[in-house]
Amino acid sequence: MTESDLRTHATDIHEQFSDQLEISVEEIEDRLDTLVNEYKVPTSEARRSVVNSYLDEAGMDREDLSGGENEQIDIAEIDSPEQWVDLTAKVVDLWEPGSDAIAQVGLLGDETGTVKFTKWSKSDLPRLEEDAVYNLRNVVTDEYQGRFSVKLNRTTTVEELDTEIEVGEDDVEIEGALVDIQSDSGLIKRCPEEDCTRVLQNGRCSEHGEVEGEFDLRIKAVIDDGTDVHEVIFDKETTEELTDITLEQAQEMAMDALDTSVVAEEIHQKILGQYYRVRGPTLGRYVLANDIETLGKPTDPEAVLIKARSI
Ligand SMILES: [Zn+2]
Repeated sequence: MTESDLRTHATDIHEQFSDQLEISVEEIEDRLDTLVNEYKVPTSEARRSVVNSYLDEAGMDREDLSGGENEQIDIAEIDSPEQWVDLTAKVVDLWEPGSDAIAQVGLLGDETGTVKFTKWSKSDLPRLEEDAVYNLRNVVTDEYQGRFSVKLNRTTTVEELDTEIEVGEDDVEIEGALVDIQSDSGLIKRCPEEDCTRVLQNGRCSEHGEVEGEFDLRIKAVIDDGTDVHEVIFDKETTEELTDITLEQAQEMAMDALDTSVVAEEIHQKILGQYYRVRGPTLGRYVLANDIETLGKPTDPEAVLIKARSI
């Protein structure tokens, strides 16, 4: 083991810890030298041992370590887990974290698409604001059931940029059984105020109070692809296509019955338990169904109901 090899290892290790620890390349080289030349420890083992002791000292996990310089990549280029990358992205959406270990969770977007992000509580990073654009250095990719995400950890640097990003649509495709229809589906009324379009509850808009609503059709459904469930929104056009009920027919049905819920009941009968392939962009946790295809696969209604109850 030559001195210059040890120096290279020491420089690498120094780079990995330079933000967290006050250590010099010489110090690291000394420790490696002792292990390798005095105790005859193989270099790789010596390096691992030294790195582990610095991890302990810095209170870091091995997964917090980067491999040095990262590539600045587009979101659509993320195609494998455990890659250390730099991204420039806009915060498209923030969700409620499901655990105390997570400080923030949401969706990042750039021109090429969107990706889920998780920011650990112990990372001590500044709060990301919705619609702001950031340069995020040293984030690590992850994969769960075929979907990629990025994790912000204590080695990540966050720099807000004064720029705008036009977030590209990345269509997703889901294929599976429609196992649930949410309650505010069917014939609904929307607020007619300009730029409002909120769905009325008992004739009231949460912003504009009591208004004369405009009828619309939509379905919020849950599709189970066998490993995961997805919330899907069908607008008027796709709802008409899916159910074979037009908005006019839905209004007539409701008028005859003096009740709008007959439409939802009819929709349940027609689509619950059927198999579909839907494609469209994601909006937060929803997939907006732009294209739908019925996959005439007969379903065991009992199995679907068991699945539906377990959601
Ligand atoms: Zn309104």
